[in-house]
Amino acid sequence: MVQARTADLVLTARDAFNKGFTKNMRYRVKNLKNFIKFLEENETAIVEAMSDDLRKHREEARLEVFVAINHLKYLIDNVRTWSEPDLAAKRWTDLLDGLYIYHDPLGVVLVMGAWNVPLLTLVPVTGAMAAGNCVVIKPSHTCPSFGKTLARLLPKYIDPICYPVFLGGVEETNELLEQRFDYIYYTGGATVGKIVHRAANKYLTPITLELGGKNPVFVDASADLELTATRVMWGKCFNSGQACIAPDYVLCTKQVEKEFIQHARSALTKFFNNDPRCCPIVNDFHFRRLQKLLRGLNVVIGGRVDPLDNYIEPTVVTGVTPADPIMQEEIFGPILPIITVSDFKDAVNFINKGEKPLALYVFTKNAVVRDYIIDNTSSGGVTVNDTLMHLIVESLPFGGVGLSGMGCYKGKDSFDTFVHKKSVLVKNFSRIIEKVNEMRYPPYSSRKTDI
Ligand code: NAD
Repeated sequence: MVQARTADLVLTARDAFNKGFTKNMRYRVKNLKNFIKFLEENETAIVEAMSDDLRKHREEARLEVFVAINHLKYLIDNVRTWSEPDLAAKRWTDLLDGLYIYHDPLGVVLVMGAWNVPLLTLVPVTGAMAAGNCVVIKPSHTCPSFGKTLARLLPKYIDPICYPVFLGGVEETNELLEQRFDYIYYTGGATVGKIVHRAANKYLTPITLELGGKNPVFVDASADLELTATRVMWGKCFNSGQACIAPDYVLCTKQVEKEFIQHARSALTKFFNNDPRCCPIVNDFHFRRLQKLLRGLNVVIGGRVDPLDNYIEPTVVTGVTPADPIMQEEIFGPILPIITVSDFKDAVNFINKGEKPLALYVFTKNAVVRDYIIDNTSSGGVTVNDTLMHLIVESLPFGGVGLSGMGCYKGKDSFDTFVHKKSVLVKNFSRIIEKVNEMRYPPYSSRKTDI
């Protein structure tokens, strides 16, 4: 029964796509504008739902709404230009021909969000809409209030046949994945990423995987260490470290470590003295996982935990070695290990021994250090002298590499991801050109082609 409903939802969307509704530019722009209206008019309900699921700070939840609206505005401003066929470069032999690159929507796209930033991870939906596709919107089952709010309110603003919201747990999601899509955009962990990849493989469906990993921070002695510590601790505390681009660990020399810790302590005092603390950890499983990772480590800041509330205080630990469990997995919590290295080249060697990160952070005033690290490492993206902020720059593509993901969105990539670039060559019937064409017709002869 459930299976039939799932198949029906996708088939109905496909039928709508085939009828051409979403290809129409006015229709696309109208739905994108209505998406903004949905976010603006229901901000309170969306924020409440997120805070109900995750006990996320309201300001952090509002930031997700802000980023989503900005992204939509960027798409609306550009979608008409991007959708026009591009003119391809010509050789002299093509001078009389038309050479075009069309941007064809793919069909029915599935976008799967993650729980930690439930709205942000659904922002690719808007790129798929701008590109003229029908989109099945699948929020994470780990944030049920957010999912229900979306399913209740979004259909009042955008076409529910072309852009249905699908709610369901693991079983229902796997049924959904059995359906045929023209593109799958998945955000989440690598384990489920592999399940989604395998499902996509059945129809050779192209896919983007937005995954996570360990994001290193290198702090150079030349950096403004007060600002560095403030920006690193903000990145670590945002959503209690439960962010794919959260700084995972710090690499610095022993000398820098001491000063960094002092400033990190002051930063935390400023952040949380008069304010509610960071949000709790999402569930018992992750709380216990983090508690286990902390075991046996040298805590220099924080360290208090509250099992009744799944709360972990922002914590800094030192003396960490690459063999410690905390260095074996993405932390995804408010714990910051510091690992000492001899210099920036040593830091690069350390980073390159691990998997390619989603984000890499470098704090330095020294251009040689900055360029050496950028040139000698591979990561989804790099931010110099700050954390997290690259995600909100509209014109910068966002995505991982290696085990941190494949494919990207944001800016024009949000559109390009969801279109097929179709080459169109328009020849003419000129009899003069036909003389040149004759050399390719039989009877073949080298005399005709040797020019
Ligand atoms: P999650 O549990 O929300 O799962 C992701 C999606 O997969 C959800 O839609 C969920 O409903 C579905 N799902 C979960 N288990 C499934 C299963 N067994 N079969 C089929 N579908 C299933 O999210 P998560 O994986 O815990 O997310 C955390 C990870 O996501 C972290 O590694 C984080 O770094 C990464 N992340 C990446 C980005 C990014 O943009 N690169 C953004 C946010 C989170």
